Amino acid sequence: LKPWEDPNAKPFLQIRNVTKKFGAFTAVNDVSLDIYQGELFCLLGGSGCGKSTLLRMLAGFEMPTSGQILIDGEDMSGVPPHKRDTNMMFQSYALFPHMSVEKNIAYGLKRDGVPRAEIATRVTEMLSLVQLDGLAARKPHQLSGGQRQRVALARSLIKRPKLLMLDEPLGALDKKLREETQRELIKIQETLGVTFVVVTHDQEEAMTLSSRLGVMTAGQIVQIGTPHDVYEYPNTRFVADFIGSVNIFEGKIAEDADDHVVIRSGDTASDILVSHGISGVKGQSVAVALRPEKIAIERTLPESLPNRLAATVDDVSYMGNLSVFHVTLPTGKQVKVSQTNRRRSEDDAIRAGEAVQIGWDGAASVVVTA
Ligand code: ATP
Repeated sequence: LKPWEDPNAKPFLQIRNVTKKFGAFTAVNDVSLDIYQGELFCLLGGSGCGKSTLLRMLAGFEMPTSGQILIDGEDMSGVPPHKRDTNMMFQSYALFPHMSVEKNIAYGLKRDGVPRAEIATRVTEMLSLVQLDGLAARKPHQLSGGQRQRVALARSLIKRPKLLMLDEPLGALDKKLREETQRELIKIQETLGVTFVVVTHDQEEAMTLSSRLGVMTAGQIVQIGTPHDVYEYPNTRFVADFIGSVNIFEGKIAEDADDHVVIRSGDTASDILVSHGISGVKGQSVAVALRPEKIAIERTLPESLPNRLAATVDDVSYMGNLSVFHVTLPTGKQVKVSQTNRRRSEDDAIRAGEAVQIGWDGAASVVVTA
């Protein structure tokens, strides 16, 4: 049982109805969220959605206009950043340019008057944890971007905070290095068991890193869940669209049975069978969200498939690992389909201009709010 599934588990971080206003503008709007010890929780959202403001309130750099933040059961109202058992790592890293790697990492301990021998031991431990052994004497300008990122991480962890906030921690790295560093970050977090709250606008990054994530828009968290749940069962059209790629069919509920719903959609001109998602009243306007990779595309599909439509292929993009098809239904609706390329041969590949069928089973799509 994961802590968030356990009704008896005590949250480590409790955000209760937190609102932050800047003048008349509401940057964070009545957010409530529980985060558990040892989680790597991502706040995911586009520019200006309020995720950094929420993070800064957790660290104590901003105070909520209303609502409460509790860390380990303790109310943080009026508690300044340095009196909290937390730390924050900024995207800019903010390393001291004139100090060596070792001195940068040791800085917080030295300022606290920790004995030299202990500082040396802890810095050595930390250097090995972030795989920077041997680089202790270098200055920041003698390091690569990835190495600077690791110095910043080591520095923010040296005082063993219980909670570390990371604002776009991998934003300055190129794609390949970013992916490597994501795995390292997870390993380090798991080794230390420190709770991480990460802010990112990158949905792939949030999917890779998170134990759970919260999707934010316009100052509110619209869905909280594991990467799997948020991807497979988005609760709104916004979330379905924000995370990954999705086809949306507009429609109305035509039938709502115990184990399935039928959606009548002008986009498909035939009913769509969905075997889970919502219950709602007949006639209610909804949308069906269907991921491109859950759609089969063939010249002829088996009749047993409950959702099966004729389509014409507009274009095919070969991307190595997968092929992406844009097809048009007789209604004029465009649909995106993607398939992994299992075979090497192109002999029987589907090409632009062909008449095909697309289809999916009832469990492939979900109903979301319109
Ligand atoms: P980004 O990824 O672009 O940083 P964000 O989701 O982190 O976006 P925030 O930095 O939390 O966004 O800002 C949310 C909103 O609050 C923005 O519209 C921003 O202009 C506004 N805002 C943030 N700080 C202040 C401030 N000190 N005074 C006035 N408005 C602010």
